[in-house]
Amino acid sequence: MSVAVICTGTELLKGSAVNTNMAFLGKELCAAGIPAALEITVGDHPSELVEAIADALKLADTLIISGGLGPTTDDLTLDVVSRFFAVPLEENSELKEKVQTFWNFHHPGRCPKNQFRQARVPAGGFILPNPVGSASGLGFETVYDGTLRKIFLLPGPPREFEPMVKDFLIPQLCDSRSGELITAGFLCCAGESMVFPPVEKAVAHLPVEVACAAGAGGTRIFLSGTEKAVVDEAISIARNTLECTILPVGEFDLAEYLIKLLKNSSLTFGCAESCTGGLVANRMVTIPGASDIFSGGIIAYANSVKNRLLNVSQEILDTCGAVSAECAEAMALGCCQALDCNCSVSTTGIAGPGGGTPEKPVGLVYVSACVNGVTATRELRLRGDRRAIRERSVECALLLLYNLLESPEVQNRC
Ligand code: ATP
Ligand code: MG
Repeated sequence: MSVAVICTGTELLKGSAVNTNMAFLGKELCAAGIPAALEITVGDHPSELVEAIADALKLADTLIISGGLGPTTDDLTLDVVSRFFAVPLEENSELKEKVQTFWNFHHPGRCPKNQFRQARVPAGGFILPNPVGSASGLGFETVYDGTLRKIFLLPGPPREFEPMVKDFLIPQLCDSRSGELITAGFLCCAGESMVFPPVEKAVAHLPVEVACAAGAGGTRIFLSGTEKAVVDEAISIARNTLECTILPVGEFDLAEYLIKLLKNSSLTFGCAESCTGGLVANRMVTIPGASDIFSGGIIAYANSVKNRLLNVSQEILDTCGAVSAECAEAMALGCCQALDCNCSVSTTGIAGPGGGTPEKPVGLVYVSACVNGVTATRELRLRGDRRAIRERSVECALLLLYNLLESPEVQNRC
């Protein structure tokens, strides 16, 4: 099966809306072992959508289109698709009733005729239910250019799109693959080029597919096959092959896993941030359940704050400087004291674009972690713009804490 995605919406091209649908769908497809082969974003113009469909079908037998299923005049997806594949549209009585019910809920009174555009279904097609919006998802099969194609149309609003992908689209795609496909994976704390080639080589003798999805926190790797024992064997080989830090099978987010780990060990966490200015705290608090372990954070940007709130000595600040391993370690230790927590991370560095010197260039960052008084500190030389350096620093600080928690020094103490 080869999947192409078309996202419609002029706002996506103008940058006034970010294409989160593709980010979400891409991850879900990858996790199901069916990574998308192609994605095209088009404006709300029929001719562009026609071109995009024709291009997508050169590569894919399964096409997913998001957006343009609503009742307004710029919602043209269904009409364009119907014409392109010469599949007529039929009014569906159940959907008609649903559209009417939805309308009545928000605006008591007569439902305007254009709303019933959302009650049309391609002949011989099927409906993907939408419990939170009035436009249902639609699907049908058709032969195009001598090949059987599966076409799925989903509404654009992310709050409607995301549950539909998870609950209906992915299960349907998985069902239509030959045999039941089993997928397992985990997060590797390294870039895709460090992960994909060695794993692909190591499991080449097994009937499994390898898929990777790179993100800020590392690379998620997925192995899929039709037999559980084979997938398990491939997972075990992959885990033994990789030299980077890896999370347990089924864990795909470092901060999320750290929260579980800290909670299971009855440890509390705080952060002392200079160059990341609250990003570590934000990364943790974004995850539901963070309050079980998260004490708080101190943004210690100025040296005076590092000294007063985190007890970083004036001597360290004068002799080593704020961007130094000594300062990072003192910040992590001071954080545990100030916030009365067992674990912490700290960040201090030069995120740029200014402020660099030959000795301390832009991208030089020190991160430190502390667990029950045991510390670990790392010097980072990061590339990229200010945002990239700050975001990378967060992941490196969390990774340092994870490695420290797993280290014999800390394990033997607990
Ligand atoms: P509606 O009935 O709201 O018109 P629709 O299925 O026609 O539903 P669209 O018109 O394409 O959907 O989009 C509606 C909303 O969803 C807009 O606010 C749009 O910015 C947002 N949206 C559409 N596509 C995406 C996308 N790929 N990623 C994120 N948001 C999107
Ligand atoms: Mg619309």
